[in-house]
Amino acid sequence: MVSDLTALQPIHVGFTNCFPIDTGDGLVLIDTGLDTDQNWDRLTKGLEERGRSIKDVRWVLLTHAHTDHCGLVHRVKEASNAQIIIHQLEAFFLRQGSHHRSSNQAQFTRLFLEHGVPEQLVSWLFRMGSRAWGRRWEADPPLFGPEPEHTLRWEALEAAEVTEQDRQGPDAGHAVPVSRRDERSPNVWRFKGLEPDVTFDDDQHIELGELRLRSFYTPGHTPGHACFYHEESRVFFAGDHILKRITPNPGLYFVYNLYERRSKSLPDYIRSLMAVRNVPCVRVLGAHESEMPNMEYAVDRIVMHHERRARTAMSAVRHGRNTTYGLLPVLFPTLRASALFPALGETLGHLDLLEEQGQVVPEMVSGRYIYRPLGD
Ligand SMILES: [Zn+2]
Repeated sequence: MVSDLTALQPIHVGFTNCFPIDTGDGLVLIDTGLDTDQNWDRLTKGLEERGRSIKDVRWVLLTHAHTDHCGLVHRVKEASNAQIIIHQLEAFFLRQGSHHRSSNQAQFTRLFLEHGVPEQLVSWLFRMGSRAWGRRWEADPPLFGPEPEHTLRWEALEAAEVTEQDRQGPDAGHAVPVSRRDERSPNVWRFKGLEPDVTFDDDQHIELGELRLRSFYTPGHTPGHACFYHEESRVFFAGDHILKRITPNPGLYFVYNLYERRSKSLPDYIRSLMAVRNVPCVRVLGAHESEMPNMEYAVDRIVMHHERRARTAMSAVRHGRNTTYGLLPVLFPTLRASALFPALGETLGHLDLLEEQGQVVPEMVSGRYIYRPLGD
């Protein structure tokens, strides 16, 4: 018998919600969690508490290929030979694993330099690599000085530099015994790529046993992000598309590793929010935090947040902060080094959005994009 989705509760696999659903013919898990021993225990014990075992898992349905969602799929597959299912575009990123950034270093370097980011800062970003993730960012000093200068404080960057001890320490490299990993370790954000067993497209019915879910293609957070909807019970699995308190980051991606195919993540994201806003729902289940009872409210909260920031961005462009890097401290005055990459992505996202709305136009001047305000 199919689980009663109106009563479905997630297994908390660390900070990720994993939804186990009985399909009448084995279990499907919607998302997993970061690959740690502790999370594996959480997942297997969570299933046992529900009277099931990891061996009952026949499918893992992924909302997207971020490590905090797909981290445990290798272990699940090994334990149960489950089929891994993901959107056909996101499959590209699942195959690549967590190497997208390093394998696109040339594209990102070109992009950041064209958008005014100092060379020294770009090379710092790549020196940090994935080690920036999982750091205690609260301990990092803010990168920018107080108003009105908003200039980069290089000493703050140096303070956030990876220490030699980090590099040589017990968590360094791939040879870390798994039991020593925890969620603070940057190693858990690494993910060995995987070939999915099944892919799907937008607006497709996915049949798993007696369970029938509809896919919604919701690019923005990642280029191939998808949500799942159970029509009969009006339950919506939102992944990282809609969360209760956080505003998901519109990620910077090069689809198929092509410079020309940089995702315009924020405009895509807003469109994807509007595409699901009126889906009739009694429960909206995000992959993190607690559930949202009201889809329209949850969507409007995020849209309004970005509208506010778009107004701030537009006003700053008019006042001469007309490159992505120039705009960065206006949108992120208390930015920490470990959040630099997503913050650059979101700032560029706001300029993409303003460009799409016809409020600014980018012009290449001496190798750099300058955004000119329109309609003065
Ligand atoms: Zn996530």
